[in-house]
Order: sequence, then structure tokens, then C-alpha cells
Amino acid sequence: MSYVSRVVALAMEMIQINHLTKVTELRVEVGAMAGVIPELMEKCYRQAVAGTVLEGSILTMTPKAVTAKCDDCGTTYEPNRNNDYCCPNCKSHRSQIIGGRKVILEKVLGE
Ligand SMILES: [Zn+2]
Repeated sequence: MSYVSRVVALAMEMIQINHLTKVTELRVEVGAMAGVIPELMEKCYRQAVAGTVLEGSILTMTPKAVTAKCDDCGTTYEPNRNNDYCCPNCKSHRSQIIGGRKVILEKVLGE
């Protein structure tokens, strides 16, 4: 899974910048539209970090809802069945997805 290698590469950069010698936890935000299966991601992560400073760290995945920004009034909202996937402010259907599409590295915890 490409998300894992990207997250691991980013984490390695943060580890270098912060001079960490041991990582206890990696926190990532997993967008609802990223198409990630948590169990699979966890498994890929274990394989990807074997033999690195990240080995043995906990991968914490926080689900992130899809967020959209209305083209007409600029309101940011979570499109779902309750609002019929349109803007709760002006009922417009025209919007841009601005969040929840990716896996984002939030934090690297260690010492
Ligand atoms: Zn609107």
C-alpha cells in the first residue's frame, strides 16, 4: 500500500529532524475516502518498519470524515445522508472535497 510507504518516509524525516532514537507511537488520520482497510494498513506497516527505528511502535489510526467546501457560500461541511450530500447552509450541490481523501501523518511520538 502506497499510503504506508509515504507515511513511513514522512515519519523518518520527522525522526531525523527531532533526533528521535526510539518511537513509541505513530498517529495517522485516515480519511473516509482513502479506501484504507485498517487491518491491512496495520499489517503493511509492520512489514514496512521491520528493522527500522519505527519497529515496535504503535500505529494509531484516527478515522477522518469527508469534508466539503460549498462552491456557492463557502461553508465547510461533512456531506452525508443526513444533509443529502448538499450544503446545510444554502442547499447547493456544488462543492469541493477538501478533507478525508488521504492518509495524513499527524504525529510521531518518541524520545
Ligand atoms: Zn452553501
